[in-house]
Amino acid sequence: MDSFEIEISWSSRELEDSSNAEIRCINMDPKNPGTLLDLAIQTVVKNESVALRAVEEIPQELFIPLFNAAFSGGHTNVVKAVVSTWPFPCLHVGALHLPEPYCDILEAMLDGLQFLPVRNSSSRVPKLRILDLRQNADCMTTCSGISNKFPFCFEACAYSKKSIGKKQGAHDQLVNLEAQPSRIPMEVLVDLYIDGAWMTRHFLSVLYNKVENSLGSLHLCCRYLQVDKIMDYKKAQKILDMVCIDHLGVDEASLSEVCMIIPGMVHLTSLNLYKIKFRSYKKKPFKMFLSHLSRMDDLQELFLSYFSLKNHVHKVLRVLSPELDSLNLNFCDLTNKDLLSMSQKLQDRNIKLLNLSHNQMSWENFQPLRILLENLSGNLQHLEMNNCLITDVTLSGIIPSLRSCTSLRVLTLACNPITMAVLRSLLQNLTLLMKLKFVIYPIPMHCYDQWHFRDSLDEVKLAEVKSEIRSRLRAAQRTDMKWSTSYE
Ligand SMILES: [Zn+2]
Ligand SMILES: [Zn+2]
Repeated sequence: MDSFEIEISWSSRELEDSSNAEIRCINMDPKNPGTLLDLAIQTVVKNESVALRAVEEIPQELFIPLFNAAFSGGHTNVVKAVVSTWPFPCLHVGALHLPEPYCDILEAMLDGLQFLPVRNSSSRVPKLRILDLRQNADCMTTCSGISNKFPFCFEACAYSKKSIGKKQGAHDQLVNLEAQPSRIPMEVLVDLYIDGAWMTRHFLSVLYNKVENSLGSLHLCCRYLQVDKIMDYKKAQKILDMVCIDHLGVDEASLSEVCMIIPGMVHLTSLNLYKIKFRSYKKKPFKMFLSHLSRMDDLQELFLSYFSLKNHVHKVLRVLSPELDSLNLNFCDLTNKDLLSMSQKLQDRNIKLLNLSHNQMSWENFQPLRILLENLSGNLQHLEMNNCLITDVTLSGIIPSLRSCTSLRVLTLACNPITMAVLRSLLQNLTLLMKLKFVIYPIPMHCYDQWHFRDSLDEVKLAEVKSEIRSRLRAAQRTDMKWSTSYE
């Protein structure tokens, strides 16, 4: 009896158990032996000819464990065969760990797509319409069972004219999965990281060829796009539909280049720009950027780092979507004038996360910050102000405003020059915020010979500070709060 015969002789009870599509790690550890089905599947995928025969004959309940094992083991030919006969409308990589080289396994999955109706002797008719190559811990391998008609998959594209749903036409939104048109509309879902690496370039070129060869039947749906290499992006741009993208990150580019990337991204929910250069707030790139931002009606998160907004933050805030709830402005050269603008423009917003770290202001007047915190106090859950040169006077001045932030869950104030006396006052006041669970506090200045020089940190003094913080939290009956000097 060969391995495959062992596998198909399972009882129906065990087949039912396997249909949950969860395959456990196989090892010979007696504490975690794995099921007999797991062992049989592992044996099958290791013998390629047996596995390829199995694909033609096994019941559909076994496809998911077979796919999981073949994918995790990097068995590209078996993966391709499984995809080409996949008996469900969608297939998600989901929580599976990508084996190296990841490009090979993803390429094998793309190779398994069948654009033309299959007319072979095999009894298997592939039903795959949506191939999801993204890693997503919350996603099942298939949504099979929610519906046999469109939308049969939780992840189906909702925006592109090339999507399966739109292609069926307004009058015929329902896709009969049994019907076989001349070329079958399909979607491939990907997250793209354009970083200039050889592997990325190769994968992009595989995607490009696949879309070209599909003659219009394949919609490449990219929801998450990270661009670190603008030159490589230009090729990818030809096969992307901007309306699908909801997360965009761009690293180290000019603002003109960013403005070349973002047109059409009207469904963006998160925009992350890092080290973006531009010459003047009066010139075209900055004005164009504002114009594009104003069209992003769904934008919830804006992350700007090393993006100078000195005295000009109001221009950005003015055009942001009312949906915005997270604002990160690290290294943005913010001034007190900017804080004042923020306190006015963000007053009626539902801002839950605010990160003002690495903006070293002169705090001769802390009123703008005080007003800003009070205006956001109703909704603010997460506040970061690391390395802002906040001194005793400023921190003491804003403690009452922090106390009014009753929804606050996370507060970080690392690397600010304060004394132990003000740290004690901070702790005494913050223990009154019952939702606040995580605080990163600045190491008081007396712990350094020279403030902020890590080499001059006196570990003994720091240990005394930590010990005092712990006992004060116990005394305040707030041991549910975690106070730390770092993110570790
Ligand atoms: Zn699905
Ligand atoms: Zn799409």
